[in-house]
Amino acid sequence: MGVHGAMLDTLQRMHGKITMRLRLSGMLGDPFSADMGVKQGDPLSPLLFGLFIDRCQQFLTSQCPGIGVNITKDMLACVLLYADDLVLLAKDAPGLQALLDTLHIFCQANHLTVNTTKSVAVTFHGVCPKAKHASVQYAGMPLPVQDKFTYLGIPFSTSTPNPIHDMRHGHYTKANAAMHALLQRCREVGIHNVRLRYNLFRSLVATVLAYGCEVWSVYELARIATQESAWGMGSKLLGENVHKTFLRDTLQVPKSACIVLMMSEVGAAPMMHGWAKQMAGWWNRMVARRDGDMVKEALRDSMDIACGRIDGVHASKVQQCWASALRAFLGAVGADCSALSPIPPSALEAMHKSWQQFAWADSTNEIDQGIALRQVQASTGFKRATYRAWFCQEVPEQGAGWLRFLNTRKQIKTMAAFRLGTHELGVNAMRFGPNKAERKQRVCKCCDKNVVDDERHVFECAEFATLRAQHPLLPSLPLATDPDATMRTAMDMDADGKRWRALADYLIKHMTKRQQLLAAIVDGI
Ligand SMILES: [Zn+2]
Repeated sequence: MGVHGAMLDTLQRMHGKITMRLRLSGMLGDPFSADMGVKQGDPLSPLLFGLFIDRCQQFLTSQCPGIGVNITKDMLACVLLYADDLVLLAKDAPGLQALLDTLHIFCQANHLTVNTTKSVAVTFHGVCPKAKHASVQYAGMPLPVQDKFTYLGIPFSTSTPNPIHDMRHGHYTKANAAMHALLQRCREVGIHNVRLRYNLFRSLVATVLAYGCEVWSVYELARIATQESAWGMGSKLLGENVHKTFLRDTLQVPKSACIVLMMSEVGAAPMMHGWAKQMAGWWNRMVARRDGDMVKEALRDSMDIACGRIDGVHASKVQQCWASALRAFLGAVGADCSALSPIPPSALEAMHKSWQQFAWADSTNEIDQGIALRQVQASTGFKRATYRAWFCQEVPEQGAGWLRFLNTRKQIKTMAAFRLGTHELGVNAMRFGPNKAERKQRVCKCCDKNVVDDERHVFECAEFATLRAQHPLLPSLPLATDPDATMRTAMDMDADGKRWRALADYLIKHMTKRQQLLAAIVDGI
């Protein structure tokens, strides 16, 4: 293999005598010699193992010609290998037995052992009816026959009518458990900071959910073509529920909080966008492989089925098949599936833009036309309009600076409520309940100015002038010809932690004083 001389000598010496020590609860044990396997954690280990195990495939293929399953019309695979996880594939029991016997010979010659307690035989009797009662053995040990098994976290089943559905639910259950475990741990160790929590979510929960999405997410992604799934807003999308629950807990907002605003605040996109990106990355890697590569040819065959180019496949089967769903997704992002062409990055950007338009629809028309927020008549999407006019900076999904700087539960809760419109100010509180009123009648009851009790009025109300004066770092809003612009400018203090904390502390005091004033007014009546 081109490794010889001093290099080979060094490698041999490095692995000739390996000693290991175990660490338990910070205590190091005595050294002992390890004479099996490769070094733990050594970057060279996977390469050495790969070079070694590679011969296994060559041996099986050469000793068992013609045994295997068709990956394409004329390509057979008899073994799947990932690290030390091995799957043998055959069309019938004698074929599988031949592979097992050959593997046994290989293992004996190379001092390897197969863990038979972890090994099972799975018969796909739909494909091969006679195999249902097959019995096979390894080195004289019969292998139990099962109707499902999991390979690299992906379940394969012969009896489940819809294994992809099961797989999706399996991932949802795992991600949901990971999300709740993360929330609990955050509470235990006192992590409330939104930016930190969301980064943890992306690393520890979103990755669990996205695992294997190249296989299972095609049916969701296919709906991008029709917008049927409302871009992740629909409650039917399990993954998005995990996302929503996490955001609500982290921002400490009620169930009524608008999901678009929560996502905009943390700079998030629907989970589905991540899956689309992962799927596009996978597709691009596969189509970039050389012609004749087994995976690429299998993909080409699948696409031929989806495009109806294979005779004898019933139309309903074509419609339901995995490749058809993949084809719909590829069509939606403008990739030519029949030519196996790559998905350009611009296609995913366009998908994201289209989602933004969908998410902000109905809430921006009047704002875009330059109508001041307090003059907006439409009530649909008014919270989103408020957010766009007063809180959101140039890029709607740009995360707000406060996420990084606020660390106490109270500060975070108050700031999130203020920005997302779930606060106690009249403009929100008087939407429902006994004091329900039209928006223009939801005026401040603390002062006599007859002004709508909204987020801007917090900085105007005369009753709080003394309190505001005690907070010099608070943004001061001059009465201006364009109140929307002054409000937005005042709220743009992204990199200034001191000012964000000052605003949060002020809002806490403001809301407490407001409650006292209103209680006094009720008592006075
Ligand atoms: Zn007032």
